[in-house]
Amino acid sequence: MRHYHPSLRVLVTGGAGFLGSHLCERLLEQGHDVLCVDNFFTGTRRNVEPLLDHPRFELMRHDVTFPLFVEVDRIFNLACPASPVHYQHDPVQTTKTSVHGAINMLGLAKRLRARIFQASTSEVYGNPSVHPQPEDYWGNVNPIGPRSCYDEGKRCAETLFFDYHRQHGLDIKVARIFNTYGPRMHPNDGRVVSNFIVQALQGQDITLHGDGSQTRSFCHVSDLLEGALRLMESGPDLPGPVNLGNPEEFTIRQLADLVVQMTGSRSRIRTLALPTDDPLQRRPDISLARKRLDWEPRVALREGLVETIAYFDRLLASGGARPSAPLP
Ligand code: NAD
Ligand code: UDP
Ligand code: UDP
Repeated sequence: MRHYHPSLRVLVTGGAGFLGSHLCERLLEQGHDVLCVDNFFTGTRRNVEPLLDHPRFELMRHDVTFPLFVEVDRIFNLACPASPVHYQHDPVQTTKTSVHGAINMLGLAKRLRARIFQASTSEVYGNPSVHPQPEDYWGNVNPIGPRSCYDEGKRCAETLFFDYHRQHGLDIKVARIFNTYGPRMHPNDGRVVSNFIVQALQGQDITLHGDGSQTRSFCHVSDLLEGALRLMESGPDLPGPVNLGNPEEFTIRQLADLVVQMTGSRSRIRTLALPTDDPLQRRPDISLARKRLDWEPRVALREGLVETIAYFDRLLASGGARPSAPLP
């Protein structure tokens, strides 16, 4: 795989979150200086605790909706709550984080002539009428629903990235990330993989939304980051967007059954209403990433779940997860 030049200074916004903390770790392993910026809305210091003593790691509490003046060579812009429960908690702030955050990080990149990566999302495809989703599909997004703050915020961020690219010649990399899971997801994050595992381990009912026939494709965090790092180091003729995700598709009911079976849990499945605008199907077409990044996921869902279940098992045993913790 391609490696960074050893002495790069890399900014990771949202670096104390699930994906961000793994990314910081990998960048340090590759020999870079890492500046982790986070406002701790959904991320925690605990996620980066093992890195705090590292001589090349720096943690800064900062909200990306405010200007940031630092000196770096690369920017990974990951700051944004990703779980529907969290991004709908303060939807105006969610749009601000995506849009004002993108403007500030793009302004920073412009001043420094730094390459900048945007963590975009499969949500830009909304409830897709094309399946699987290729990058040239424009999506089917409700602009005024409860998910819009996230979906439209991320779409507007993509627009800003491409306008800074065209208007100011900025070196951009836009990844459309599909559902990703793994250790360090917040136990009360609200996303389906963490919810089902925590519920199964605690013997609580598994909260299945709708009839569970809606589909998602789950990518292990290690695969996702490999793709993201390859995209960041790809040539200037690949600004993106590039889909990154695992093309293996499962119904949510299949996921529930698998988690119950793998944990040996006695939890029962409780059916709840399907939330408004919940996409009915989702699966990435990763032809572009295969061709241009020579990348595809290697970790099968069952294999990735073994490790993720073990992580939550340890976390619950150590009292590190409060089942009914309020939103931050
Ligand atoms: P996460 O919630 O664990 O991490 C997001 C981080 O951003 C948190 O540490 C949070 O505190 C921080 N943050 C939020 N608002 C901020 C602000 N205004 N200023 C500074 N920091 C702020 O979620 P994640 O899964 O790690 O997602 C990381 C990024 O990847 C997000 O941009 C998300 O939209 C994107 N993404 C993730 C997935 C996935 O399945 N995990 C899928 C598609 C896109
Ligand atoms: N910005 C920043 N850090 C920098 C440079 C700019 O946070 O090092 C912010 C700046 O506050 C501005 C935004 O990025 O609001 C966009 O900057 P740009 O130069 O593109 O636009 P302008 O300053 O002309 O509005
Ligand atoms: N889901 C579920 N039970 C839960 C949490 C989520 O059935 O406790 C469903 C949710 O309605 C959606 C799918 O699982 O159909 C994926 O949800 P998640 O919030 O993880 O991601 P997103 O909808 O953003 O893809």
